[in-house]
Amino acid sequence: MSKAKSAPRVPAKKKRAAGTTPAPTRAATTSEWAHVWQSPIHGKGIRATRAIPSGTRIMEYEGERITKAESERRDAARAAREEAGGDGCVYIFEINQRYDLDGSMEWNTARLINHSCEPNCQSENVRGRIWITARRDIAEGEELSFDYGFDVENWQQHRCLCGSPKCVGYIVAKSHRWRLRKRLAKLRRATKSK
Ligand SMILES: [Zn+2]
Repeated sequence: MSKAKSAPRVPAKKKRAAGTTPAPTRAATTSEWAHVWQSPIHGKGIRATRAIPSGTRIMEYEGERITKAESERRDAARAAREEAGGDGCVYIFEINQRYDLDGSMEWNTARLINHSCEPNCQSENVRGRIWITARRDIAEGEELSFDYGFDVENWQQHRCLCGSPKCVGYIVAKSHRWRLRKRLAKLRRATKSK
C-alpha cells in the first residue's frame, strides 16, 4: 500500500537546478495511482487513474543523489542552457544540508508532474526520499500537481499556465507569491505612467 499517514510531513523544496548527466537506463517509475498523459497545462503531465485518498504516497520522485558541489555545477550548466534558449527545466530537489537529488533522468516519471498555484499534491521529504503525496482527495482523471517551491529570483523565466483562479502567472512558491504580486503591481504602475 502507498498510504502513509504516519510519515513525517516535511515540505520538500525543489531547487532551481538540473544537469546534463547521461541518463542511466532503467525502467521508468510507475504508480498504481497515476499515469502519463498529454497535459493541457504544459507538455506531458501525470493524471490520476483512479480516486486517490488524501495522504496517499502516489509516486516517488527518484533520481541521482549528488553532493551540493555537483548540484551547483549542474545548475550552472542548466542556467547556461536556458540562457542559450534551450531547456531550463529544474529537476533538482534539496534532500538535506549535504545532498541534493537530480531527477532529470527520463525514467523518473514524477519529473513530469506540473506545478500549480493550487496544487492537489505536495512533495515530501521522508527520511531523504522525495514522495509526491495527495494533499486532498483526488478524483479519477484529475491532473496531479504540486508547488515547485521556487523562490522569487528569476521569476520571469518560469511561466505558470495552471489555470487556477489563484494563478499568479509564474512558478513561484506559495510563501513567496506576495512578493511576486508586489513586483507585478509595481511593473503595471510603471507601464501605465509611461
Ligand atoms: Zn499558476
